[in-house]
Amino acid sequence: MQRLKSILSRLDGRNYKAYKELAGCYELEKLTLFIDHVQGDPFAAPSKLRLRVPISISKIPLSMFETRVQKISLEDYLSRQIQGLIASHGRSGRGSGKSGIIQIDSGGQEILERTSIELTQDWVEARIELGLPAAGRRILGWEAQSLLLDTLPQISEKGLHYANIKPEKALQFIECAENQKYIRTWLEKSGYVAFVANQSILPRLSGASDLPMRDNPVPFQSPQTLEISLDLPYPRIPDHPESSRIMGMGIPRGVCLIVGGGYHGKSTLLRALERGVYSHIPEDGREYVVTCPDAVKIRSEDGRRVEKVDVSPFINDLPQGRNTKVFSSDDASGSTSQAASIMEALEMGSSLLLMDEDTSATNFMIRDRRMQELVDREHEPITPYLDRVREIYERFSVSTILVMGGCGDYLEMADPVIMLKDFVPQDFTAKAHAIATKIETGRFSEAVKPMSAELSRSPDPDSFSAARGKKDVKIDIRGLDEILYGRIALDLRALEQLVDGSQTRAVGYAIHLTQKKFMEKDQSLRGCLKLLDQHLDELGLDVLDPYFRPEKHPGNFARPRMLEIAAAINRLRTLRIMKKETGDRRRGRRN
Ligand code: ADP
Ligand code: MG
Repeated sequence: MQRLKSILSRLDGRNYKAYKELAGCYELEKLTLFIDHVQGDPFAAPSKLRLRVPISISKIPLSMFETRVQKISLEDYLSRQIQGLIASHGRSGRGSGKSGIIQIDSGGQEILERTSIELTQDWVEARIELGLPAAGRRILGWEAQSLLLDTLPQISEKGLHYANIKPEKALQFIECAENQKYIRTWLEKSGYVAFVANQSILPRLSGASDLPMRDNPVPFQSPQTLEISLDLPYPRIPDHPESSRIMGMGIPRGVCLIVGGGYHGKSTLLRALERGVYSHIPEDGREYVVTCPDAVKIRSEDGRRVEKVDVSPFINDLPQGRNTKVFSSDDASGSTSQAASIMEALEMGSSLLLMDEDTSATNFMIRDRRMQELVDREHEPITPYLDRVREIYERFSVSTILVMGGCGDYLEMADPVIMLKDFVPQDFTAKAHAIATKIETGRFSEAVKPMSAELSRSPDPDSFSAARGKKDVKIDIRGLDEILYGRIALDLRALEQLVDGSQTRAVGYAIHLTQKKFMEKDQSLRGCLKLLDQHLDELGLDVLDPYFRPEKHPGNFARPRMLEIAAAINRLRTLRIMKKETGDRRRGRRN
């Protein structure tokens, strides 16, 4: 402490560069302060610091974070506590550029594994960013002293000491996450792909805010015929053991159709299901909306790149005789992009596809009787999803939940058919099937052959690079859905299940790590991402940073799903898929 004080008084008034001397580790009264990276000037990205409190001082009981879910959710909770303290503290003092700014990477409505808090058996650590204060380019040594020696110790004591973290609230947070995890596992065992608890609040505050709607949202209430109940490991309301029983709508495996008039809440329900692959914080409104963890939202995305994807189950006989078993495009159409995204999701082993008419290509979803008459089969390359949806479930065990208010040809394909009326779901399965029998579509199936597809592709690690200028690795993240990977601009706007900018950052670095470490010859994309996933399970997200050394600030990462990493790799504009070596050639080489 004395050492830090004397350095700072000596630096006062000197040129900003002199701050570099601060890098190092300081024992303060109740914490260790690590200054890992010192910014080069007051306008640069803030300096990176870690506040480490021994468990013997923090007194967080080890029993509170024994399991993986407990540890992730307690870390998530603590990052929010610190975020709250920083916000209430405000930006301190005067100064130029980022002077006095303090930041921690904390989440939105989802509970995610992230690097901003690290709990171990021995200590708890907050990884923060702080703008070292300056006037112009002159060091404000006294201001720095107050920040580092008063503000940070206060934040650390209030945010990381057990007595101050509102332990009951923390416990409730953890138990809520454990309940969600329990439901996710239970669904899988019990033949369901999704669960929406009664009383859930699905609509959000606005198109730009993920907070729950405040004014008169209609709480979710399952139709009786689809209602299921289960017993959670923890009561949802403390001291109310009866609240561990939960009721809600169970969506079974298979094909589920969500219908209803415009503006009756169809897309809102689907969006909640998309997000249900993650756990949510208490009071989000969707904390008991749970979807199987590998569900993928599929949408059309014209203009996207596609590299050697077998889209032949959906697309055949393209103009100019293009091969749809190894289909590539730098500018895919609405329908081909949607077909490719489906095949890529199947390649990654997804067991549930989510689609919304709002974001689907009409000609991919349906070709009705009249169109079949007008444009004959020879001139229509598309086999619409309608003719594959049952097959995808029956032969490949991949379920679909589809929002479709505009086309009745799907009615006989689905069970259940859920009708939303004034935001209230009703079971219309029987009625839908009766209508389907009474009014025939008159169309014939266009699936002339059973679906078969090559689902394994091996990416060529030499086909893309994170290098830019003089740097071997330069990966920049712009918000939630843009990565500049080396010199390749990567547009992730279509990945609607990416929910946090720190996940996007992790996706960028995960691509690099996978490329360097796991993309060996003939290794499939799915195979190398499986290895990455295990690697992250074992070592944590810290290793995503290529410059990471133990005892250094790892940067701000939140865990993405392997599905989003695969989707990002698939969208790299320079990606090449390696040609499969045929049996003949392999034999030839051995000779
Ligand atoms: P659809 O897809 O059926 O056209 P949306 O899901 O887009 O309808 O919902 C239309 C509007 O209704 C949105 O502004 C949404 O926020 C709101 N909304 C959706 N569900 C509810 C609900 N349960 N209670 C109140 N408003 C809702
Ligand atoms: Mg809609």
